[in-house]
Amino acid sequence: MPTFMVTTPGRRYPAVVEHGVLDRLGEYLPANSGKTFVVTTPDVWQHHAARLARGLAGRSHEILMFAGGEERKRLASVEALAEEMVARGGDRSSVVLAFGGGIVNDVGGFLAAIFMRGVSVIQLPTTLLAQVDAGLGGKTAVNLEAGKNLVGAFHQPLAVLIDPEVLGTLPEREYRAGLFEVIKYAVISSPSLFELLESRRTEVLAREAGVVEQMLAESVKIKAEVVSADERESDLRRILNFGHTFGHALEAETGYARFLHGEAVGFGMRAAVLLAERIGCLAAADAARILKLLAAYGPIPSLDGISAQALLFRLPSDKKTVRGEVHFVLPEGIGRVRIVSGLDDRAVRAAIEAALQ
Ligand code: NAD
Repeated sequence: MPTFMVTTPGRRYPAVVEHGVLDRLGEYLPANSGKTFVVTTPDVWQHHAARLARGLAGRSHEILMFAGGEERKRLASVEALAEEMVARGGDRSSVVLAFGGGIVNDVGGFLAAIFMRGVSVIQLPTTLLAQVDAGLGGKTAVNLEAGKNLVGAFHQPLAVLIDPEVLGTLPEREYRAGLFEVIKYAVISSPSLFELLESRRTEVLAREAGVVEQMLAESVKIKAEVVSADERESDLRRILNFGHTFGHALEAETGYARFLHGEAVGFGMRAAVLLAERIGCLAAADAARILKLLAAYGPIPSLDGISAQALLFRLPSDKKTVRGEVHFVLPEGIGRVRIVSGLDDRAVRAAIEAALQ
């Protein structure tokens, strides 16, 4: 099974996609490190504690249980976890293992970034979304009242261990939401992944091992390449935001309660495709193919009661806005995207209206 190297100015590390890699976790822990702290949530722990214990092979560790949930992805939670780390003997040589979904990867990663000015972290993502996205790339953050992920740090891990076996216990809705992020990689950079998602839908939805491995490997490869080329999201990394500009607006407008992140990205990709077609960036046949694939992995929760104007109004407040101008990542074919700014509000609004229907 493949290992993809992520190379950033500060660190080079492996992202390993492998059945049972969690059993080999001990190999990735530095020999001279201090206490090991596992940040996790009760559901992940309930299903996979034994697996992690096997991987740690008798090495002593402390569990930092975190209740999870977007509403708890806050500075206060990080502070509480840091207090607990100190109380249990954490110091500058400690290692954090972030074992859970994207929220745990973000909270555990940020805790590691700031605890005693920074300790090592190994990311152990357990949702499909986190395995293809949140666990990899070194972005860590928590939410403010004003918006999601507004306080954070870049903190690259020692390693990212992606074990497809943990996906077996993931609730169906969470798995499907993660598939939208896989579709994102297909559209931005991989016609072969796109074809796999088109032709093997039944196996994809059934989580057939071989197909899941292929999806994970191709998505992680793309993310590793993009992060290696542009760690700080100054340019190339922005292509990973395909579907996110509209998606974040939808999440914010519905109070982060109605849609899972991946579902909102699914809506966002639909709006971006309609916008790309409208402004002549994407051929009608390709637009139809992408919309069909998005529909094949839906449906997402109802869009009733959401107005195009409200979503339009929310666009500039996305933190990926650069100096007040909204940048859209728009497909120009299957496997190719372009970053576009300075678009007429009327075209954007029309695309949102069409996406809401
Ligand atoms: P999540 O972390 O809330 O996980 C979803 C649910 O599944 C949780 O209840 C979790 O405890 C449970 N769970 C996780 N793994 C499981 C398993 N194997 N079996 C059973 N249950 C399991 O949600 P998510 O979609 O993984 O992550 C969303 C978060 O990730 C958002 O906060 C988003 O902002 C963040 N994110 C960060 C980045 C980044 O680059 N840092 C990228 C994308 C998303």
